Amino acid sequence: MKSRFYPKCIYLLTILLLTGCGSQAHVLRKTDVAMGTLVQQTIYVSTEDNKITSDIIDEITKLEQDFLSRRLETSQVYALNQNSGSIQEVTGEMETLLRECLEISEASDGAFDITLGPVIQLWKIDEWAGVNDTAEYSLPTAEEIRQALQLTGYERLELKASQTETQTMAKLQMPEGYVLDMGALGKGLALDHLLELLAQRSQVSGATISLGGSVLTYGSKPDGTPWRVGIVNPLDPQKQLGYLKLTGNLCVSTSGDYERFVEVDGRTYHHIIDPATGYPGESDVKSVTILSESGFLSDALSTACYLLGTEKGMELALEYEAEALFVTHTGEILMSSGMETIFKQNETR
Ligand code: ADP
Ligand code: MG
Repeated sequence: MKSRFYPKCIYLLTILLLTGCGSQAHVLRKTDVAMGTLVQQTIYVSTEDNKITSDIIDEITKLEQDFLSRRLETSQVYALNQNSGSIQEVTGEMETLLRECLEISEASDGAFDITLGPVIQLWKIDEWAGVNDTAEYSLPTAEEIRQALQLTGYERLELKASQTETQTMAKLQMPEGYVLDMGALGKGLALDHLLELLAQRSQVSGATISLGGSVLTYGSKPDGTPWRVGIVNPLDPQKQLGYLKLTGNLCVSTSGDYERFVEVDGRTYHHIIDPATGYPGESDVKSVTILSESGFLSDALSTACYLLGTEKGMELALEYEAEALFVTHTGEILMSSGMETIFKQNETR
């Protein structure tokens, strides 16, 4: 009796484990380009319907086209920039975003500033990506930078609530010539949208999606092991420094001087600009990785912490209850205490 019963139990249990309580977990893997960067998806689903991967790309593209882009005429940011100098109504989502950005500007002593558009345009940062031949490129002059800087400064963005008969709309006022640039937070904000989208799909049990230097983890893996998010060695970007072991819904963003840069006469110029000088910022940080439940925060804080350096950057990350991992120019690794428990360093790097 016993010898017949136990094998049956084991057999049933094995089926349940393999099929995830009756529904088989399929894995969908896809690589695309969206928001000007590589999007890599790994999604565990209970059905073979793979429409989710194209819905994800559509969501990223929509966010860029309708909301964030500085270049596409269809976006809200484009319209705000076109009409700088006049008072403009903004949607609720834009108001929230602008308020959160202004708060980070204050908290970072101005290191983070979405009004750097005129300076970013001058450096032609958008054109650096993927451009190997920089023979055509000429650096901006000190005078050009000085002039562009005059059209920047988050302190001169004003958000006011305006009451109509039916609703309260916020209004934005910024000086003429101002250009908002959301490059420091766009990918992170996209991750927040994707986390919401994934939560609406009951067939998705787990996912990891990377968008350039920003990565999300969602749910869990079928085998229950933690997600692994690799951290690039900024001193040798072909290699990995280690990885983060993560469980649940989290966002990781890395900012570093190796991500996007241009070389002129043997000198490199990277894409994170110091608002005080208009030139690429210098600190003791070579790269910084921020972990947060919010994609927006992980992305925005990684840019700010890069400029602030290890000491002030760590303070800022902790203020926002985010975890931080800094790599200095000499290869030293500095971590917040929460980060220490989840970072696993590679033996060869
Ligand atoms: P990536 O876009 O490579 O992920 P970051 O998140 O660090 O890198 O953002 C860098 C981008 O942010 C730049 O390409 C530029 O558009 C914008 N930017 C540069 N300097 C600043 C700054 N000090 N504050 C806010 N945005 C910035
Ligand atoms: Mg960023």
